[in-house]
Amino acid sequence: MTLTIFSWVAVITLSISYWFQIWKIHVHREVRDISLTYNICLAIGFGILCVTAYAQNSTIFLAKQIATTIPVLVIIFQVLYHRKDRWHDPADPDCLGCKKELEIPWTYCPFCGEKKGIPPQNL
Ligand SMILES: [Zn+2]
Repeated sequence: MTLTIFSWVAVITLSISYWFQIWKIHVHREVRDISLTYNICLAIGFGILCVTAYAQNSTIFLAKQIATTIPVLVIIFQVLYHRKDRWHDPADPDCLGCKKELEIPWTYCPFCGEKKGIPPQNL
């Protein structure tokens, strides 16, 4: 019984871990460092094991596979959708020159070369 409870806690924890990744991508639109191949391999592996779990009539194994396959598919979709997007953090300032988003440690805008916080002189 204890083992079953721990196993279900593990299934939920594993699934939640992927949803935290999904939330990060959603907020930051940042997918440069996320491997599409890695997530496709996970989706294929988890997907195949869904069939195995179903064939073996294992409820917890099937639940685990479904609970991890779905978020991995969402991550793959996010990587494809946000491929061309740039880093986004609501706390970051925008460049006064070109309106692009700057990261806090940056002194100069990498897009237009304006110094952060100084409005452009000649528009
Ligand atoms: Zn700029």
